Amino acid sequence: MPNNSLPDHEFSSSELRAIEHNVLGRKWSLWAGVAAVLLPLSILLGLQYWWLTDLEHNSAIARKATLENYLDAIAKEVEYYYTTVAERALNLPTYIFTEGKVEKAGYLFKKKPISGAKHLFIVDFTEKKKTTIRFYNPEDHTMGTPDWSDDSLAVWAASSPWHWYRTKDVAVETASLAVDQHDPWNRIIFNPITDDESKFVGLAGLIVDQQFFEDELLPKAIAMALPELEERDGLVVCVRDGRGRQVLPSAPFMNPHNDGVRRHFSFVFTDWTVSLQGKFTEPQKLARTNFVYNMTLSALLAAALIAGIVFTLRTALREMRLSAMKNEFVSNVSHELRTPLSSIRVFGEFMRRGRVTDQDKVREYGGYIETESRRLTQLINNILDFSRIESGRKVYTFEPEDLEEVLTGTLATFGVRLRDSGIEVSYRGPEEPLPEIEVDANAIDRAVANLLDNAVKYSDGGQRIEVGLEGRDGEILISVTDQGIGIPRDEQKRIFERFHRVSTGLVHDVKGSGLGLSLVQHIVEAHGGRVTVDSEVGRGSTFTIHLPMAGPGAKGA
Ligand code: ADP
Repeated sequence: MPNNSLPDHEFSSSELRAIEHNVLGRKWSLWAGVAAVLLPLSILLGLQYWWLTDLEHNSAIARKATLENYLDAIAKEVEYYYTTVAERALNLPTYIFTEGKVEKAGYLFKKKPISGAKHLFIVDFTEKKKTTIRFYNPEDHTMGTPDWSDDSLAVWAASSPWHWYRTKDVAVETASLAVDQHDPWNRIIFNPITDDESKFVGLAGLIVDQQFFEDELLPKAIAMALPELEERDGLVVCVRDGRGRQVLPSAPFMNPHNDGVRRHFSFVFTDWTVSLQGKFTEPQKLARTNFVYNMTLSALLAAALIAGIVFTLRTALREMRLSAMKNEFVSNVSHELRTPLSSIRVFGEFMRRGRVTDQDKVREYGGYIETESRRLTQLINNILDFSRIESGRKVYTFEPEDLEEVLTGTLATFGVRLRDSGIEVSYRGPEEPLPEIEVDANAIDRAVANLLDNAVKYSDGGQRIEVGLEGRDGEILISVTDQGIGIPRDEQKRIFERFHRVSTGLVHDVKGSGLGLSLVQHIVEAHGGRVTVDSEVGRGSTFTIHLPMAGPGAKGA
């Protein structure tokens, strides 16, 4: 073949280096981008952990304080009730404790009726050596001397210490309410009454009605202090008396060990306790639950973010690999186009200048031009098919065909190309005639032509190519066997990927687009079939197209 010198359309090595450099640079910037997201993310997670640990500690304290506040509110409600009631009913004028005015107390008690007291009474200390106790009778509003009973005994006992003020005639500095709880069934609230000189003259008092406290006051105080909390967190308020008897709730039994927070009542019933039980009454537990919940949420979010980054990275790397392969493809195709074009141009030029007069030479050069044009056509057809397949525009026209006829046609066309190459193509037809099957004859022709083309390209001096056609197990098999360089086992699957070329050994010297086999695979799969390869490095390869005899729809093509 004459030497030719077309301007170089191939990528020069410096251009290839520039492309490689560019791809490498993009890879770096990609990893830098990933680091730019991951680094702040891990710092953020670290800080989040630190904050949440801190929050766990603080929220435990805050929760404890909240619960204690609720208990305080209940105790305050009770205290407020009794002080208000006592101040209202027991605030008697001093003149009651002068001779003959005791009955007036009955009238005053009547004027200010109250709930929650078992008895209202006065203790008169006006006669120095004598203490007079008068109980109020709510039925006729009189003040009478009580019978000997637990109630009157409790008042006697409780008022005794007040004698001291009277006998010593000392001034009572603070005339505030006093409580006596020596008898737990008869708790007494006193209001010391003083004269103008702050001298103690007597007591007005009431005996607390415990039943009223248990049945009416406590439930009301609890409801007022806790309505929201009780509903939201399923809290139960538990009240126990001085001996540990559970007063509220009446059922079920609440184990005192499960009390979250607890406090004593103030003012009256100070030996009684009020406590809270429920799922979040242990502040540490609640804080831990919140911590675990928040931390899990953050970890899940971070995991989702990292998964997103990994996914994006994989896509980006795949795109970059594809773009590198495309660059190589352009380089390869430019070479593939350049070689036949150079030959055609040079042979055409020879003939135009009339340098070739010998008829045999003219035929030979004409043959070259024809072969090279076919190569060009095949390459361009491949590229066009590839572009149609990629954009989903590839349409196949299936018609019943005799595959032997299709194959002979392909071999005849291919034979022209191989005429002077020294490569011999042998054909082994089926032993029995095969049925016609529905195929796109042009597509099958192109698939087989690609296999033949590869068999020649990668023949590495091998002189024989065998083409076979046979029917077996419901399939028609078209095989192309060469004695070429062979394909390493781990590459045998990947050679069907678009743009993929084996990157070792001899293949470097053979230019190609990396599209041929991916097209063969697409065409065969569109016919409901598959392509297989059996190859050994250094000994040759056999590519086999399996087509279902039942037609393209048989395997869901
Ligand atoms: P190419 O244009 O590179 O030939 P193909 O898609 O036709 O693209 O083939 C992909 C790769 O598979 C080739 O680059 C080559 O490495 C390998 N290959 C294909 N056919 C053969 C064969 N008959 N013998 C050895 N290697 C082959």
